[in-house]
Formats: sequence, structure tokens, C-alpha cells
Amino acid sequence: MLNIVIFGAPGSGKGTQSERIVAKYGINHISTGDVLRAEIKNGTELGKTAKGYIDQGQLLPDNFIVDMLASTLDGLKDSKGVIFDGFPRTIAQAEALKKMLAERNQSVSIMLDLEVPEDELMTRLLLRGQQSGRADDNEETIRKRLTVYHSQTAPLIDWYKQEELYCHINGLGELERITGDICEAIDKVK
Ligand code: ADP
Repeated sequence: MLNIVIFGAPGSGKGTQSERIVAKYGINHISTGDVLRAEIKNGTELGKTAKGYIDQGQLLPDNFIVDMLASTLDGLKDSKGVIFDGFPRTIAQAEALKKMLAERNQSVSIMLDLEVPEDELMTRLLLRGQQSGRADDNEETIRKRLTVYHSQTAPLIDWYKQEELYCHINGLGELERITGDICEAIDKVK
């Protein structure tokens, strides 16, 4: 089982690189952001709650996300592994993921930290906002999300270093080069 955590600030390219990894390794992709946006689109109760947080650039409560992730994980059949995109985003979530996988006799294989300078993140997200119309890709909400990233999510870097699962990836530059660096790192732990 290959369980990959793809990590990085909003706009660091987690979604784009996840698609490429899924195509190459045949594993499942769980993007908490995509799951939440689907709930919003379908007008579910979960979606209604989620929308308030997302539009404010805030994280959803940990228990909410952890329950959602557990049921998504249980829905997978004959999986060769998973790439977790947008999860964990807090230390509590990382601990919950560790426990959840241990209960299934599994563990995280590697954590890939896609690092991209802040001005580039802003440029990418503003462009995405214009192209996709994602409501949280406006300047004010992006700034809030980056602040939330630094205060609540970035501490996971040290957490995964302690777990000896951390792998830095330079997320600035050619898409192909970045994918190449990621695959090289995955192949070492596979
Ligand atoms: P990005 O990485 O561009 O910020 P995502 O699509 O991963 O976008 O997430 C969008 C929003 O969904 C987040 O700003 C947050 O409100 C919510 N969200 C996604 N994943 C989580 C999570 N693991 N914990 C709490 N909230 C989350």
C-alpha cells in the first residue's frame, strides 16, 4: 500500500501533481477540498456547513473532516493506496490519520512538501479564481487562507520530520521537473 500525503500551501500545485501521481501509480486520490465542493454543489447538510468556513478562508473543525475522511476511505475497494490532498491540515488531523491507517494495518509512506514562494502562490490563485470562478480564490480570502496555512498547517512540517516521513519538493518551475522529483522520491519508499 502506497499512502502519500501531498502537502503545501494553497496554490502550491497539490491537485495538479496528484492527478499525475494517480495516473502513474494507479492509486486513489482523496482531495478534501474536492469532496467538500461536491457536497456544496449537491446542497447537502455537510455542504451547507462547509460553505460558511470555506468562504471565510477558515478550516473546518477537525472532527468533521476526520469523520468525512474515514467514510471516504471506507468507500474505497481494492485500493493500491491513496494520495491524501488537502489532508491533514492540522496536527490533530495528522494524528487522526496515523491512527486511522494503523487500524487498517497501514501507515503513511511519505509526506511530500511542495514549497512555492508566497508571491507566486498569490499569482496562481488569483489566476485560478479568474478561470474557474472558485469563490475562495479572491485576494482577501487567499490572504486569510495563507495566514491559516502558516499558523495551523505549517507546523506539520516538523511533525512529519519527527516521523521521518518528510520530503521537500521544490514546487516552483516546470511541471514535468516537479513530477519527476516527486516520482523519484516515491520510488525510493515504494
Ligand atoms: P487550497 O489548497 O487551494 O486551499 P482546498 O481545495 O484543499 O484548497 O480546500 C479548500 C477549503 O476547504 C479550505 O480553505 C478549507 O476551508 C476546507 N478544507 C479542505 N481540507 C480541509 C481540512 N483537511 N481541514 C479543514 N478544512 C479543510
